[in-house]
Amino acid sequence: NAPLSEIDPEIAAVLTDELARQRDTLEMIASENFAPRAVLQAQGSVLTNKYAEGYPGRRYYGGCEHVDVAETLAIERVKALFGAEFANVQPHSGAQANAAALAAMIKPGDKIMGLSLAHGGHLTHGMKLNFSGKLYDVAAYGVEEDTHRLDMDKVRAQAIAEKPQVIIAGWSAYPRQLDFAAFRSIADEVGALLWTDMAHFAGLVAACLHPNPVPYSDVVTSTVHKTLAGPRSGVILAKQEWAKKLNSAVFPGQQGGPLMHVIAAKATAFKIAGSPEFKERQARVLEGARIIADRLTATDVSEHGVSVLTGGTDVHLVLVDLRASQLDGQQAEDLLHSIGITVNRNAVPFDPRPPMVTSGLRIGTPALATRGFGAKEFTEVADIIATALKPGSDAEALRARVLALTADFPLYPEHEQW
Ligand code: PLP
Repeated sequence: NAPLSEIDPEIAAVLTDELARQRDTLEMIASENFAPRAVLQAQGSVLTNKYAEGYPGRRYYGGCEHVDVAETLAIERVKALFGAEFANVQPHSGAQANAAALAAMIKPGDKIMGLSLAHGGHLTHGMKLNFSGKLYDVAAYGVEEDTHRLDMDKVRAQAIAEKPQVIIAGWSAYPRQLDFAAFRSIADEVGALLWTDMAHFAGLVAACLHPNPVPYSDVVTSTVHKTLAGPRSGVILAKQEWAKKLNSAVFPGQQGGPLMHVIAAKATAFKIAGSPEFKERQARVLEGARIIADRLTATDVSEHGVSVLTGGTDVHLVLVDLRASQLDGQQAEDLLHSIGITVNRNAVPFDPRPPMVTSGLRIGTPALATRGFGAKEFTEVADIIATALKPGSDAEALRARVLALTADFPLYPEHEQW
């Protein structure tokens, strides 16, 4: 029962170093967040010891009376949060939730139509090396070259021509809200099912600051760890008629024993996501993203070839277009990393550069909003990024401005070390 620092000092050092990195840098990867201490406590608990194949009340193992309570709480809370008739909280990850959703809805060889990876879609929406691209016939739709937005009339025309069995709404890199009513009407017109993957914007939906896809969709999947700020994992929501097929697609279809410690942490995260504090935080997420988009469209940066796709944002992220900049995506990511800001390079639609280099950056505000940042701090962050992306910036001075912000907003202050 010796502590980690004694049993495995090398791994203990990794935790200490990673905590220091998270504390001393500005985390702006749009898919990341800081899970609250309560979520980490539930996740790092004795529930990790329990096998519980099956579902609450119908397990293949004894001794499930307490984990049944945790899973039932997670199910009821997430259903209430999003107004869903049915929930499966067992997917280990977003990708597994998506694999199970497709397995429940269609058979191999059927056609899916989602946003192409190059235009902001996710791997699991039909990328050729992913299970989705290997098992299913794929017809991807894209954004318009001039507006970088979806044109729903064109999506409709493509769906009529392609006749997919499933239409996918959802994205990993798209800075605007989707028109779920239009997706529903297109799906109905061509006799397709509508699956929405709200992994990125689920926290905004929970806070009622983004349209809810649940009433429009046959099936909705999500991760729990992005804007929702829960444990790294997935969830599936649906109309009740899908319950049997989805449960069987997750277990035994995709997975064995559920991760009961993660499911307990999901329950806690869903409880927090229903609170007024969570809603207030999501409002700061949106405000911060707008402040960054505004700053990165000002003339002092645009004259150096930096711009923002679609000219702004409705969500928690900004997509920076560097096609006209002297910096490529890789260089810009490295530059921001050197001053203590963590972002990821991201291909822009119609990107002339290869995917490992790219001509874009994806910058998100959820983690910093969780840290407590509001308009004042996001204005400072936006100016630091804008200054960094212009030629001749003083990296040391910018690093000092980053450190001043991190010092003002301590992360996990209750922990000396992990
Ligand atoms: N769906 C979308 C839209 C995503 O952006 C992601 C992750 O980035 C996933 C699914 C997959 O989630 P995970 O990494 O948990 O498998």
